[in-house]
Amino acid sequence: MYKRESMPVRNGGSMSQKRLVVVGGNAAGLAAASQARRRNPDLSILVLEQSPFISFSACGFPYFLSGDIPDFNSLFIRSPEFFRRERKIEVLTRHRVVSLDPSAHLVTAHDQEKGEERTFDYERLILATGARALSGDFLKGSLPGIFAIRRAENALALVGFLLARKPSRALVVGGSLLGLEMAEGLRKRGMEVTLAERSTRLLPEFSEPFGEEVKKEMMRRGIQITFSSAVSSFTGEPESSLREAVLEDGRRLPCDLVVLALGVAPDADLAQKAGIALGVGEVVATDRFLRTSASHIYAAGDCAALNNLVSGRETYFPRGTSANRSGRAAGEAAAGGEADFPGVARTMAARFFDLTVARTGLDEKEARDFTSSLKVTDSRSRSRAGYFPGSEPVFTRVLFDGKSGLLLGAEMMGREGIATRINTYAAALSARMTVDDLSRLDLAYSPPLSPLWDPVLQSSGLAALEK
Ligand SMILES: Cc1cc2nc3c(=O)[nH]c(=O)nc-3n(C[C@H](O)[C@H](O)[C@H](O)COP(=O)(O)OP(=O)(O)OC[C@H]3O[C@@H](n4cnc5c(N)ncnc54)[C@H](O)[C@@H]3O)c2cc1C
Repeated sequence: MYKRESMPVRNGGSMSQKRLVVVGGNAAGLAAASQARRRNPDLSILVLEQSPFISFSACGFPYFLSGDIPDFNSLFIRSPEFFRRERKIEVLTRHRVVSLDPSAHLVTAHDQEKGEERTFDYERLILATGARALSGDFLKGSLPGIFAIRRAENALALVGFLLARKPSRALVVGGSLLGLEMAEGLRKRGMEVTLAERSTRLLPEFSEPFGEEVKKEMMRRGIQITFSSAVSSFTGEPESSLREAVLEDGRRLPCDLVVLALGVAPDADLAQKAGIALGVGEVVATDRFLRTSASHIYAAGDCAALNNLVSGRETYFPRGTSANRSGRAAGEAAAGGEADFPGVARTMAARFFDLTVARTGLDEKEARDFTSSLKVTDSRSRSRAGYFPGSEPVFTRVLFDGKSGLLLGAEMMGREGIATRINTYAAALSARMTVDDLSRLDLAYSPPLSPLWDPVLQSSGLAALEK
């Protein structure tokens, strides 16, 4: 028999208040709980988090490794006490939700401290369970020094290993954004770093020229990169030391630290067991209010399928931006708000040493599925007036519909002013602008900040001419 509990209400309301339960205490879950509080000051809000940690910025972790961020603790943004005191949100850590009963509106968590199960009733529930790092079977053995970074626990374990063992040769497996950021962090820490990628290029999130430039930048900074290199196993002394990675073709790469960056999979087990519908790729399916197939249950963040605001199709975009935005929208909806979630343009930016790459909208494959008249225009411009010292080249690729001129996506690369400029493209996608509209925007100009014709105006103007 379960013990059905009512949480103490700390905002002066009565025990009969409606309760919102949020499962998962990181980006999406805490954004959801906070927005629900803003929307409804009287709601009772409970966040259940399985780990001892909440509000951890994994995004900052590569920059702690690199030394840019000196204090590891600064990556923990808010504490449970903050939420209790400032937002009147109850946060229970070490509470792993083990089951969900949508018809009875009950959620059961295992309290790891007391070793007992606790069942809570809810009026509305938000699933914000995130995603887990894929690791193949590589973490199952007893060799030390192999890590897959996703959550605070993983980051702490890696930091502990670095301090205790002082490894000098790191192998990063996987050449995606995350793998590259981790490789840079470890290199800046003074380690010999090799990156092994099973395909023939880096950065699958971007088109080929972008991966190629990033490769040159990484290699120039002393990172070894090996392509067509699928890791099949590791050797070493169990519990004692790691020696090398063995590749499928028999080659061996010496290493005493491994970071796996093999991608992520949504943490949707709880939803699946509760009979909630999953979409493509086992992601929790949602509608435009982030509602799942179960009534009164919402999903947000890395566990949820989101709407691609350009194509209108379901997409999976496990990023901090979309987790916070969708979390906020789910909190708004669950607390009685009426605003829907417009979706994601899959906007992202990353800096590798001095080179920044950024993208938004559809990639070329998606754009070809979307329209039979896709046009792709490349252009080269400058970050400042050409005569101004420090002016850097900017490369832009624009994807648009050749018949209507509708903007479908953009990618940019350079050493200055890239991340801010891609945001203009992201705004244009939200506003469903054509490349002509974009080329006629009134953007700022000052020689140290931009050429007279900003790279956004120049690239979209060129695209408009090619229509
Ligand atoms: C190294 C690294 C760098 C990154 N850099 C960037 C970046 O620069 N920009 C960007 O946009 N994104 C970045 N990301 C991605 C970003 O961190 C994630 O997309 C974001 O944290 C997702 O938030 P979430 O709340 O959906 O999921 P998570 O952060 O995974 O949180 C889910 C929470 O739910 C808890 N949980 C799961 N199951 C249960 C259960 N059954 N019961 C109770 N609790 C449960 C988990 O313990 C976890 O705390 C990076 C990620 C990593 C790892």
